[in-house]
Amino acid sequence: MDASPHNSFKIMMNEVVDYGSCCECGACVLACPHNVIEYIDGKPRQTAKPDAAFDYCGVSEGAGCDVCASACPRLWPRETHLRDVTFGAERGFEDIFGVFRHIFVARTRREDIAAAGQDGGIVTALLAWAREQGHIDGAVVSAVGADDPPCFPSPKVATTVDEIKASAGSWYTYCANDLALADAAEQGLEKVGFVGVPCQITPLRKMQYMDPAFLVTAKKKPKIVARQRGYLRGPAERVSFSIGLFCTEVFRPELMTERIERDMGIPLGEVRQFNVKGEVLVYQRNGEVARIPLAEAMAEYQRPECRHCGDFSAELADIACGGVGTDRATIVVIRTRRGEDIWREFEASGEVEVEPIAANKRAWNILLRLARRQRERVPQGPPRSGTAPGLAQYDPRLAAEAASAALAGTGKSDDETAACLEAAYAAEARPSEVVGFIAGQPIPGDPGEPAAGEKRRLPPPLGPDEGGASPAGGRA
Ligand SMILES: Cc1cc2nc3c(=O)[nH]c(=O)nc-3n(C[C@H](O)[C@H](O)[C@H](O)COP(=O)(O)OP(=O)(O)OC[C@H]3O[C@@H](n4cnc5c(N)ncnc54)[C@H](O)[C@@H]3O)c2cc1C
Ligand code: SF4
Ligand code: SF4
Repeated sequence: MDASPHNSFKIMMNEVVDYGSCCECGACVLACPHNVIEYIDGKPRQTAKPDAAFDYCGVSEGAGCDVCASACPRLWPRETHLRDVTFGAERGFEDIFGVFRHIFVARTRREDIAAAGQDGGIVTALLAWAREQGHIDGAVVSAVGADDPPCFPSPKVATTVDEIKASAGSWYTYCANDLALADAAEQGLEKVGFVGVPCQITPLRKMQYMDPAFLVTAKKKPKIVARQRGYLRGPAERVSFSIGLFCTEVFRPELMTERIERDMGIPLGEVRQFNVKGEVLVYQRNGEVARIPLAEAMAEYQRPECRHCGDFSAELADIACGGVGTDRATIVVIRTRRGEDIWREFEASGEVEVEPIAANKRAWNILLRLARRQRERVPQGPPRSGTAPGLAQYDPRLAAEAASAALAGTGKSDDETAACLEAAYAAEARPSEVVGFIAGQPIPGDPGEPAAGEKRRLPPPLGPDEGGASPAGGRA
């Protein structure tokens, strides 16, 4: 990878989309300030100039832009390189499953949500409570609505508690939740609770933290810089807090249409819920449960793009939730101060029952194993993919310096540059003004490779003083 931290539309289209790692999050389409790309068959396609090459954007190659590539989760910086900007000096503990402040297991006490929820119903209960309390004015979720084919959710903005409740449960085909942030903007929502799988959380952090000085180019006026800044920062600024879902993979739609409907003879309209617990469980409305061996489902129907994802546990979310190794309960990982603040209030409401992680050793062991396995599975991709070992943490100061070096000698006057920088940063602090940024950190907590012939030894679950309980200490 060259020294410049900047990624372009051309790089994204070649090293992500054409290469085959594009996760279909749609963040690039959401972020495009000039309507150059559309989301077609799950991928970004440039439709502004149909006779031009698939990797040509006139704005990128003319005045300059590349907001899309700056949000793309499959280009450097990736999750591991964004830890410092996301957590900074506020980081609590750090382990193989990322930075966290607390890890524990929880269940909602609301019976209707507990019944509909995938595991402990925590995601839905937290969003419903936050909406009732006015902490959010809406939530971005995946749900199968009246206009969707059965079993195929679409991204939705839920503004009422009933709409939030209707989104309970997980669907294992991909649903590009980031795209719904455009609807949230259209509806004028300003405090959104965002739910998504890890590759949908990462673009939000990139939109929040990528240094905007790259928007200032020789040919651009402040007005265009301001527009591009709005698209780079706008979606993430709307998010009040994010809930990331643990995720090893999604399945191709053919799991539903070929395997379940055609081969197993189960009409998709009769499917009430799915789960993956060592096998794929298909819960039907008549009470029956059909099963597909997980290895078989993965071999035949795992979406290949997921193999390029090393983030099992939504490492950059405010709160991450999953259900491995639990029984009708959700593993909750509080990662940020924002996540902790909202959780403390939620738990104090008495709506949730919590247990320390030490009481859930099986869940802990599976989390450690899966987090490690997922990190290791990512193949080393093209130069800009951020998959080479030992890459640096993203440092906004270096990015700002690189952007200013790129401007040197272009003839842009100091006054014009200053006006454009004003437009790029708006009121936010510039990296040169921020003190306390922590440079590259190794990832602690990795138990490493076992010696030949030895079994991998996992450390015991964390005690409450090590973050292994809810902020209230597991006494709700
Ligand atoms: C595609 C996918 C794969 C997952 N893989 C794992 C895994 O390997 N291991 C693990 O421990 N947990 C996994 N989970 C998370 C798990 O299924 C539960 O969502 C989590 O434990 C929270 O449970 P809950 O009862 O608190 O959530 P609920 O209260 O039931 O809320 C579930 C939330 O999931 C959202 N959602 C549903 N389908 C999708 C989708 N396709 N894309 C994005 N958001 C969606 C809904 O909007 C809802 O807000 C996965 C989830 C998804 C969506
Ligand atoms: S470079 Fe800018 S204008 Fe071109 S596709 Fe990307 S975001 Fe859109
Ligand atoms: S931002 Fe998302 S949809 Fe766009 S190219 Fe990257 S991975 Fe694909």
